[in-house]
Amino acid sequence: MTDSSVWLASVCESDLESPDGQPQPTRTEIHHPCLLEQQFEGARITAGEIVPCKDCSDHLHEGHPVSGRACRYSDEPTYTIAAVYCAGCAPTKLTETANGREDVLLDADLGLAMAGQTHWTILVEPTIVATA
Ligand SMILES: [Zn+2]
Repeated sequence: MTDSSVWLASVCESDLESPDGQPQPTRTEIHHPCLLEQQFEGARITAGEIVPCKDCSDHLHEGHPVSGRACRYSDEPTYTIAAVYCAGCAPTKLTETANGREDVLLDADLGLAMAGQTHWTILVEPTIVATA
């Protein structure tokens, strides 16, 4: 009787060689223009590295979790970041809403973007908290 276990083992071994070294396929399905959050990813808040909290004037910079309030009038193509709050002052709901204006409350981290000699503070990984 021949010992077939050796042969089987070698077959299994070659099957385990999965192509791990191959690059991941490019994921393009994340880009979805309807996603409101997409509009705020990388949104520019202000020039420079520091953003003051609107309530307590605490200095916020890259890496800080913040809450932002954005608005867009019906004749404007994009939202404007109206105010940025530190985590302690973050509002939990939208107030002072107005007719003809869309308001968005979102959570995000602060990031820093650079181009040549200038840099500015941006929103990173925004999450919509409320809209009105
Ligand atoms: Zn604050």
